[in-house]
Amino acid sequence: MSRVYLDHNAATPLRAEVREHYLEALERFHANPSSVHGSGREARMAIDLARERTAAALGVHEDELIFTSGGTEAANLALLGALRALPGERSLALSTIEHPCVRAPAERLQREGARVEWLPVDAQGEVDLACGVETLTARPVRLVALMAANNEIGSLLDPEPLFARLPGPRPLLLVDAVQALGRIPLRWRAQGVDLGVLSAHKVGGPKGVGVLYRRKGVALEPLCHGGAQEQGLRPGTENAPAISAAALAIELAVSEQPQVAERMRNNLHLLFNLLTSAVPSARFFGPHPSAERRLPNTLNLELPGWDGRLLVARLDLEGLETSSGSACASGSLEASPVLLALGVGAERARAGLRLSLGRLNSQQDIHMAVDILRRVAFSHT
Ligand code: PLP
Repeated sequence: MSRVYLDHNAATPLRAEVREHYLEALERFHANPSSVHGSGREARMAIDLARERTAAALGVHEDELIFTSGGTEAANLALLGALRALPGERSLALSTIEHPCVRAPAERLQREGARVEWLPVDAQGEVDLACGVETLTARPVRLVALMAANNEIGSLLDPEPLFARLPGPRPLLLVDAVQALGRIPLRWRAQGVDLGVLSAHKVGGPKGVGVLYRRKGVALEPLCHGGAQEQGLRPGTENAPAISAAALAIELAVSEQPQVAERMRNNLHLLFNLLTSAVPSARFFGPHPSAERRLPNTLNLELPGWDGRLLVARLDLEGLETSSGSACASGSLEASPVLLALGVGAERARAGLRLSLGRLNSQQDIHMAVDILRRVAFSHT
């Protein structure tokens, strides 16, 4: 059975060029990058070059980049590391639709005594500006975390209007750009981002490599101790081959972003148009597919009568690979916190199905996906 993969926000296949580079790097960069001999120096040079190329692609300085084991570790290091390094009161604000890799360390800090403010979003999943300004004016914080693009519904969170209206000293800005990379332009310098998070496996790179951008001058406490690697902020022997392959994937993602985004957008429109006529009862969450401000690849919807999790399993049997935002905890279906934050109610928040397109999905994939969705939708009624 031929299968259609529409789960690129979870992981993307390794790009052919990256795979080739990675395989060669696995052979070449086998030594410990901290060893002083020739093989060690070669592995070190591979990391240095990866850092240079990543920094050039992102328009930042190479000293500002820390390689980690993924987006989750980068976000934890950013949030816990920055707050723990700040003298005085610890306080932070985050949107109600942040990924768990930001939400969980924020809650951890809260348990340690930090003050946490929540920034609500509107029905489209954008920050409610008036509410955000009111909250942060009444109760200023030291750090604000706003993801660049939401992984479940594809909304974009813009920090600029919020920061422009804040009185008093500017808080640090942490941006999780894991889903934005390669899909929308990153504007970290222009936006005044202090801490930025990326993950290579969302853009055709290997699993297990993340990037933390830390603007020069921002203090961080490491989470681990025992080595001087990555400026002592991420100690432990580096995975030189994977870092080298990740840098190539990030470089390609940035340079190809406009063309890739346009292709994804066209396929998203096709998907939406075919789906609304094939399954008129389908309802959509988040920004409208034709909205300017949204990820070009992410569609979240419900089919009447279906729980998201069960729908994912059924679609998988039919050859369509997708995901849902709802988690299965102790045998019961939990509602997606992101959909709940949009104010859709617990029942609908369990129904969300996420379709996320990739660089290489074809129009034929979209037609096949809609055929499967139509069959499954009508099998239930
Ligand atoms: N942030 C967002 C928005 C994500 O979607 C993900 C992964 O799904 C992550 C962070 C975590 O990245 P990683 O899988 O590299 O830990």
